[in-house]
Amino acid sequence: MPVSIMNITENKKLLPELTNPNIFYQLNPDDLTEQTINRVQGVINNTGALCINTGEFTGRCPQDKFIVKDAVTESSVYWNNFNLPIEEKYFFQLKGKMLNYLNSAAEVWVRDCYACADPLYRMNIRVINETSWSNLFAYNMFLRPSEEELENFQYEWTIIHAPGFKADPMIDGTRQPNFAIISFTHKTILVGGTGYTGEIKKGIFTVLNYILPHDRNVLSMHCSANKGSKGDVAIFFGLSGTGKTTLSADPQRKLIGDDEHGWTDKNIFNFEGGCYAKCIDLNEEKEPEIFNAIRPGALVENVGFFKGTNEIDFASKAITENTRVSYPLHYISNALEPSIAAIPKNIFFLTCDAYGILPPISKLTAGQAMYQFISGYTAKVAGTETGVTEPKATFSACFGAPFLPLRPDFYAEMLGEKMKEHRVNVWMINTGWIGGCYGVGARIKLRYTRAMIAAALSGRLDNVMYETHPVFGMKIPKTCPDVPEALLDPRLTWTNKSEYDQKARELAVLFIKNFEKYADCVNDEILSAAPLAD
Ligand code: ATP
Ligand code: MN
Repeated sequence: MPVSIMNITENKKLLPELTNPNIFYQLNPDDLTEQTINRVQGVINNTGALCINTGEFTGRCPQDKFIVKDAVTESSVYWNNFNLPIEEKYFFQLKGKMLNYLNSAAEVWVRDCYACADPLYRMNIRVINETSWSNLFAYNMFLRPSEEELENFQYEWTIIHAPGFKADPMIDGTRQPNFAIISFTHKTILVGGTGYTGEIKKGIFTVLNYILPHDRNVLSMHCSANKGSKGDVAIFFGLSGTGKTTLSADPQRKLIGDDEHGWTDKNIFNFEGGCYAKCIDLNEEKEPEIFNAIRPGALVENVGFFKGTNEIDFASKAITENTRVSYPLHYISNALEPSIAAIPKNIFFLTCDAYGILPPISKLTAGQAMYQFISGYTAKVAGTETGVTEPKATFSACFGAPFLPLRPDFYAEMLGEKMKEHRVNVWMINTGWIGGCYGVGARIKLRYTRAMIAAALSGRLDNVMYETHPVFGMKIPKTCPDVPEALLDPRLTWTNKSEYDQKARELAVLFIKNFEKYADCVNDEILSAAPLAD
């Protein structure tokens, strides 16, 4: 049975400018999956999930993300490489063109949903999609209103999403044919020219990173969160690939969310209704929760298959290394819904240090915590060409600079106050290399990282001996349950100790250089937490 198409009168209520007579409104995941298959835009894998390709773009494009510069944003937004200004006239022009494009399309999908699990901060969203599978992404990732709530649904923000629409950079004020544009005044996000679904969720995240701290006194955070059996909450900050999604899916704890949260005076809450996990090298034994979430309703992006089968080859990087799956939060067996929980007792800063310098687990003072939060360090492996093995340091303020419209100190000050007020423990976890840098050492085993986090959360690191890192100053436990002692001190894992000392100082120089721009807006306690380069 084909799914019902909305009639035109009903459509008028949806969005006045959307005159396309073929609108699929609020379809369920089964129908969206079936439609995608029928339109030959996806296939079902052997566990029943819908697998699609997002097209030319398989990741976000930070250089093509704009904020309309107008009376609202001009003096409040921190204009930088991630917050690029665009004139309002281009926003209107592109919105008009996109609506024309969608009105002349054969069909359009519309979905009402919301962000922010705490009803006090709930933000209703209407998403308009060119394809059924991107509408399924919106279903999976945003929060889903009940039938009752839909009756009188008033949307506040609109997302117009058309991967097939391309801007003309000469006329439309963009850099390339693809773009993501946010207008705070018109409460609209335009995404065109890219099918990468992540732009949809990170667009709303950017909006919330403005509204919540700026207007509602809520700290917005690029972090995952979970809750122990005694109600204790942990949050995990970290840049892409550092382990937010992987480490928050812990069978011993309830999952609150894997990427975006708010911290109020009373609680923390998830912005989203789903998770967006990496699939590269996904393995049932190491990450059973995520592996088993790949089932009917899940949307898998850009994976390869074993030849002649519909079985996903998780090792394949044929399309991209950034293979992904989105699924509703409750696909993780012990998810907490509604995703609201107490003020955190423990904060983890995750970094994937491909230099192999930072300890696998360490404890930070308040000053060090602020210094590390503002620095937002991780080190990726540069390039995938053969022979290129040098890691590349990335510093991204508050572990999320691409999504933060306000100055970093705006978020840092809020976090600093909250950490002091609630006496939160702050840990730094290196989920990256030990025993040498990339190419020499190896990435620390996931089970050891999990064991270290479990030990920290259960208080089993409270009464052990610590030593101080000679360059970075954090405290390193000398013992940790279920982890070989030889792994804890990074220097001891390197064969060549003087090379370690040398590389540690080099990394310290990068930290210090990066921090120069913040010197004016932080206090001495934070400044004195800088690493020692000599
Ligand atoms: P994003 O912001 O892009 O969603 P993320 O912080 O959620 O990124 P994950 O998706 O959790 O990052 O990615 C961590 C990846 O690293 C996973 O593929 C995981 O299997 C792998 N990994 C390997 N070793 C470890 C480790 N010791 N700790 C954490 N993750 C590890
Ligand atoms: Mn993630």
